[in-house]
Amino acid sequence: MPGKVWVLAEVWRGEVTEITYEALALGRDLAGQMGVPLEAVLLGRDGKTLAASLGAASRVLVADHPALADAAPEPYAEALAQLARRECPAAILTPLTNVSLGIGTLAAAKLGAPAINFCQDVRFEDRRIVAHCLLYGGKIEADVAAAGEPAVLGIWPGARPAEAGRSEQPPAVVEELAVDLPAAAPVRLREVIEPEAGEVDVTQQEALVAVGRGIGSQDNIAVATELADLLGGAVCGSRPVIDQGWLALSRQVGKSGATVKPKLYIAAGVSGAPEHVEGMRGAGTIVAINTDPHAPIFGVAHLGIVGDAAEVLAAMAEAIRGRHGKAAA
Ligand SMILES: Cc1cc2nc3c(=O)[nH]c(=O)nc-3n(C[C@H](O)[C@H](O)[C@H](O)COP(=O)(O)OP(=O)(O)OC[C@H]3O[C@@H](n4cnc5c(N)ncnc54)[C@H](O)[C@@H]3O)c2cc1C
Repeated sequence: MPGKVWVLAEVWRGEVTEITYEALALGRDLAGQMGVPLEAVLLGRDGKTLAASLGAASRVLVADHPALADAAPEPYAEALAQLARRECPAAILTPLTNVSLGIGTLAAAKLGAPAINFCQDVRFEDRRIVAHCLLYGGKIEADVAAAGEPAVLGIWPGARPAEAGRSEQPPAVVEELAVDLPAAAPVRLREVIEPEAGEVDVTQQEALVAVGRGIGSQDNIAVATELADLLGGAVCGSRPVIDQGWLALSRQVGKSGATVKPKLYIAAGVSGAPEHVEGMRGAGTIVAINTDPHAPIFGVAHLGIVGDAAEVLAAMAEAIRGRHGKAAA
């Protein structure tokens, strides 16, 4: 009989992050297939208060310790490994974000357990835990079966909608467990470097207008900005646009930029390279504008327009302005 499925909850600046709920939704699917309970693990300060939002899990294990005050992989991995030795989960889902990266792999090394990273999906098949992994910016997709337990799985953002992992109900059981950690960790968080003042956080926008090399010139970004303003969102870009200095680095979407999940993502003059798609594939509705009908971006877009990026963006802005005008009249 397999054990339970665990989700390592991620906390940043005192709040449970979106990916935690995404991982809970994925964990619930996996636990359902295995016929085992879904549980969450909350490490760090104020765990008991934060546990209330993790009702998708039937039980939340909370471990508080001064060494867990800041997100740092070593004490978190040690605490997770100690709890796993005691509780014997069959699978541990860990968020693959800048905050949690490294915790799962380190914990797996301590447990002598298999670690599988870059998981987009996980299923139970022929009594094995099988992860569907996206590697090399999406150029390679692989199904990887865990060769032992617990399977420690690093989960990409966007594996499931966060809404699916939220619950109005608190978890049935919240249990505090002790962990034994050294006071000083070998790797410590020294500083959080904030984005430049005045810059927009593209990860928090509900609408994004993304410009790629096909926008043609820096001057044409004005029309994208206008459309983004009308939609109540922001402009972002692909790497060539950032490299040319047309937009600030904080606006880059993709492998070496931000991972975004707006309700609406308009990709204008973006080819759809895997390194870009990696950062935006979780958007609710993707609209692509490209002069090349065979551009790969059309493969991920829900709606496609073959045409000139600047012209189509201007027409969209005009249409919205027209509607606003009618509504005001
Ligand atoms: C390790 C690594 C990390 C990377 N990280 C990132 C990352 O974080 N983000 C990222 O974006 N890229 C990243 N890249 C780069 C990535 O591989 C692509 O080179 C990049 O995404 C391409 O940007 P683009 O689509 O704007 O440009 P291009 O690939 O040059 O595409 C331009 C598109 O515009 C279309 N077009 C041309 N003229 C028009 C027009 N008038 N109107 C409409 N469409 C037009 C063309 O048909 C084409 O499809 C990374 C690469 C590596 C190796």
